[in-house]
Amino acid sequence: MGTAKRIVDTAKTAWRGLGERHVPYWSWDRLRRLQNERLHAILGHAYNTVPFYRKAMDERGLRPRDIRTAEDLTRLPLIDGRMLQRSPGLFASSAYGEGSAQPLLSTGTAGTGRRRILWSNEALLAELAAGERDRAVLYGILGKRWGLRRLSLHPEASTTRATLRYQWGRVHVPRFVAETRYVPPDSSYEVVVEEIERFRPDVVYSYGSILEHFCRFVVDRGIEFHAPRAWVYGADGLSDEGRALVRERFGCAVLSTYQSVECGRIGFQCEEEKGFHLNVDRCVVRIVDAEGRDVAPGESGEVVVSNLVNHATVLVNYRQSDRAAFAPGRCACGRTLPLLERLEGRMSDVLHLADGREVLDHVLIHACKKVLANTLQFQIVEEQPGTFRWRVVPASGTDGESLVAALHAHAAAVLSSGDVLTIELTERIEIPKDGKLSRVVRPAAATSLDP
Ligand SMILES: [Zn+2]
Repeated sequence: MGTAKRIVDTAKTAWRGLGERHVPYWSWDRLRRLQNERLHAILGHAYNTVPFYRKAMDERGLRPRDIRTAEDLTRLPLIDGRMLQRSPGLFASSAYGEGSAQPLLSTGTAGTGRRRILWSNEALLAELAAGERDRAVLYGILGKRWGLRRLSLHPEASTTRATLRYQWGRVHVPRFVAETRYVPPDSSYEVVVEEIERFRPDVVYSYGSILEHFCRFVVDRGIEFHAPRAWVYGADGLSDEGRALVRERFGCAVLSTYQSVECGRIGFQCEEEKGFHLNVDRCVVRIVDAEGRDVAPGESGEVVVSNLVNHATVLVNYRQSDRAAFAPGRCACGRTLPLLERLEGRMSDVLHLADGREVLDHVLIHACKKVLANTLQFQIVEEQPGTFRWRVVPASGTDGESLVAALHAHAAAVLSSGDVLTIELTERIEIPKDGKLSRVVRPAAATSLDP
């Protein structure tokens, strides 16, 4: 990358970033206009250069101009991770190749392996600029926008790091803007505490499961440290109890962002922490039921996204495998970007009981809430429908036998008599290479993680 090109890209991205700060406050009409413009552009492009959409539109007798607004997306088929994993070429645009796009790998989730998604160079830089929307929330909380000290617990192999490696190769972030230190998430938490003490970050970035476990761990061991002013987490979730604990014990703001390799930054939390403001001009979000029909606001379903900015791998109506609901009404913060009321976790975080019922893991966790307060970390392994192994790391000083008995007693309120539950006490649950600790795992899915 030539120096001159890097200076130009840096200036362009910084300039775009300034404009991005205002977008969350635009009128709904203006947001819709931009959404429609981008939708028309990507569908025209998809029809001309992406095999899957050419065929899908031809088969339905559609032309790109027939899809006028986001509501018309129901006329196009839903796609999912399995299709993308099996045939990535069907979704790749012939207009992009090596040099004009970067491959990013998603993590494997239950039922699907890793997926390779090409991001165009310009879309990756635009993502960096659009990040000003959520960084503005952080600047407000920290009371500063320059000289940010950031500590990241994202693993080297994560998509977040891969994206940043590309972006920072193109754009120069001077130290007076921000300085970032990386600590591998598999370091012992004593090391993480030492690094935080030494570097004194304003903000720490990690996955939600790491934050939750780290917080429970330092509270349990009575470790004192200078907590950062804010902690930003993404990807996997933090429990409500974990969030309250972080706020109470660390005294720091807790913010979350919602993103995927397929769609980039889908949404972000504001100061109200009520849900996720959706970047609808960059990504159309639908919520559908099991039959693929759109549900009403407030109703839960599966998140379906259409990436309007990345023209290299085109993903329209992509089942994101996350469970969520739209919030009705407007947010008190003044942003007009609509809200996703809650993100309820992965579609795969569902337990299959022996009597055929499907129960969200939250239901079981909620029933055992009081008992789980004496634990540091846990994971439910669904060996097969109706057979569960619950791996639990007890807090120090907890009597293991009574913990196991209490978990069995509370779990019985949710499980049926045909279900077999084994509780396994352990010292630590290893964090996988991609850094995301799933609450529910299935042995079959675990083996399909490798590409
Ligand atoms: Zn808000």
